[in-house]
Amino acid sequence: MSTATDTPPTTVQAVEAAHVLQTYKRQPVVFVRGEGVWLVADDGTRYLDMLSGIGVNVLGHAHPALVAAVREQVGELVHTSNLFFHPFQGELAARLTKASGLERAFFCNSGAEAVEGCLKFSRRFWYTAGTPRAQFIAFERGFSGRTMGALSTTWDEHYRTPFEPLVPEVRFVSNEDPDDLLAAVSEQTAAIIAEPIQGEGGVRPLPPQIVAAINKACAASGALYIADEVQSGLGRTGQMFHFEALGLRPDLISVGKALGAGVPIGAVLVSSRVAASISAGDHGTTYGGNPLACRAALAVLDTLEHGLLDHVRRIGPIFADRLQALARKHPMVVEVRGAGLMQGLVLDRDAAAVVPAALERGLIVNRTAERVVRLLPPYVISEAEITEALSRLDAALTAVQGA
Ligand SMILES: *Cc1c(COP(=O)(O)O)cnc(C)c1O
Repeated sequence: MSTATDTPPTTVQAVEAAHVLQTYKRQPVVFVRGEGVWLVADDGTRYLDMLSGIGVNVLGHAHPALVAAVREQVGELVHTSNLFFHPFQGELAARLTKASGLERAFFCNSGAEAVEGCLKFSRRFWYTAGTPRAQFIAFERGFSGRTMGALSTTWDEHYRTPFEPLVPEVRFVSNEDPDDLLAAVSEQTAAIIAEPIQGEGGVRPLPPQIVAAINKACAASGALYIADEVQSGLGRTGQMFHFEALGLRPDLISVGKALGAGVPIGAVLVSSRVAASISAGDHGTTYGGNPLACRAALAVLDTLEHGLLDHVRRIGPIFADRLQALARKHPMVVEVRGAGLMQGLVLDRDAAAVVPAALERGLIVNRTAERVVRLLPPYVISEAEITEALSRLDAALTAVQGA
């Protein structure tokens, strides 16, 4: 089998090496197209995609509903700015608010920007109330994105330290000990931010005692709760939003990744009391919620509602069971955790070697939080494709174990 790993650097790689700012360590493969759960490289090699562009390509690649919506919209109207109305932003807001139970939506272009909006709207809420609050409480191992605000509530010091000073008055608390949170939250706290399942932090569902502590702390102090659903939201776990499954009650929700299935769009969803504190001019963005991005997102929501969410609900537990079986075969896998199609295999060692071993076997997986193999397959994955993916992962784990 020819693989991208043993071919010499292509022109694409050489041009990038010379001109692209070197912020990413890329795998040595150049993808040129995709079909369903498969990605095809420039040398014709096919890879089973168990990462979906980090939780983005939820419809798989080249899904007919997304292709048709985007093709049609590109030929009609791509962008107008938020100075004017277009037919799709209101409709998308109506669909997302209905799905979340919150009241209003603000559109942006990425997950980090959605978190940024949540932080700003939280501050604005307290400013409007006449009792300004500055503090944000975030969790150990939490990830919010790379802009200055979102970075401030991101736990990993390697990401933060070179860019300090960041937003002041952010406090990190334990994601295991509820007393740490309860002691930290006060009437100075503007908001608590937490991912219902930490993604970058190693696919860690928020433990029930932390969920209870967030609800209790918000009720006692009035602090707002921001559910960062950028990775866990929009069907990934079999729920439209994972906060529902945990019993959390957010005032603000950040949405990204899955929303446009590859067309960049993010959203902030807010409760009516937060919405009431926002005035025209408080926040804005040139591209946010443009016609093209909204059409893509509407195609995603249509597809989810017409059977795909039900498919995730059915296939998610099968996926988890199969991973448990795989873990029993490999002593180096110490835990399988996650929900639905958001799963992590926790190893007894650094998982870095699994990524190239899988790639050599035509399988795309990701390593996060050092020891975790993260799997975020497209929602359209079939049972047979899961079988194929896990057989390749089995071989990759065996190779790593023997190395
Ligand atoms: C990916 C992610 C972000 C940042 O999204 P970008 O689109 O990369 O800016 C924020 N929060 C969570 C939970 C994420 O997984």
